[in-house]
Amino acid sequence: MRIANPTRTQAILKKYGFTFKKSFGQNFLQDSNVLAKIVATAELDKTINVIEIGPGIGALTEFLAEAAAEVKAFEIDRRLVPILAETLGDFDNVQIINQDILQADLQAVIQTFKNPELPLKIVANLPYYITTPIIMSLLEAGVNIAEFVVMMQKEVADRISAKPSTKNYGSLSIAAQYYTDAKVAFIVPRTVFLPQPNVDSAILQLTRLNQPRAQVIDENFFFECTRAAFVHRRKTLWNNYVSHFGKSVAIKSWLEAGFLNSEIAQNRRGESLSIEEFASLANQLFKSKAIDRESDE
Ligand code: SAM
Repeated sequence: MRIANPTRTQAILKKYGFTFKKSFGQNFLQDSNVLAKIVATAELDKTINVIEIGPGIGALTEFLAEAAAEVKAFEIDRRLVPILAETLGDFDNVQIINQDILQADLQAVIQTFKNPELPLKIVANLPYYITTPIIMSLLEAGVNIAEFVVMMQKEVADRISAKPSTKNYGSLSIAAQYYTDAKVAFIVPRTVFLPQPNVDSAILQLTRLNQPRAQVIDENFFFECTRAAFVHRRKTLWNNYVSHFGKSVAIKSWLEAGFLNSEIAQNRRGESLSIEEFASLANQLFKSKAIDRESDE
């Protein structure tokens, strides 16, 4: 019987006297149809390595171990380590790493795969309280991850995959889509989890682009410009930038030149700009950044 089955899950939890820890975002999947669909979406085979975040009692890990070459699963809760040793005991291609994923040296862990050269995918039912930091740290880590197939709160998946001129589009959409093609693969109702969360979930599929979506001179400055554009969504780009960078004459003329040279109208709102347009504006501003912005404020 699958681990992801209400009877088996209950039996495992009872045997170990396991109690859910809300602070670790523990909502275990009990529906093997959903798990089969996640694995099918990830298109795994024996030439692909997988990193999982938060195996819980191993519901998804079991499917991953069957489908992929090798699985390394980071689990923060050490009470789950002996449980996983039992539930996944039959697999010789799974390693549980009892560590916070945000503290992990991923590059070093990847080198411990039997074949570290194989394409790597991240497949996980993420702990919802740190979905965004996990995804952003993995994208920015410079690690070669081919694809993410990850479950999260539906609302966050909608924001990450949003297109310009929609209400969900913002700096998070841009940060993720700078590196990836993002889409919601399917929705998962709250009823398949134990305990049931208050929100529905979605499977987000992020496919890494060969190179970032836009050419950017300075990534930190580009991301600063995208974040500043959405601080007040109803304000124009110009007003957001004046609030963020400064109101002095020198700053305003620096901003004016940046808008002019990138051919972006000052009265547009951040939500209407594509990633390429943000890159163009940030590049123009960065090029003439010789002005000391700080001293002038
Ligand atoms: N994969 C299991 C399933 O689908 O039933 C459990 C998913 S549950 C939503 C999230 C899991 O992530 C929990 O097992 C939790 O203990 C673990 N977790 C929470 N924070 C973590 C972190 N920072 N690093 C690694 N694992 C974490």
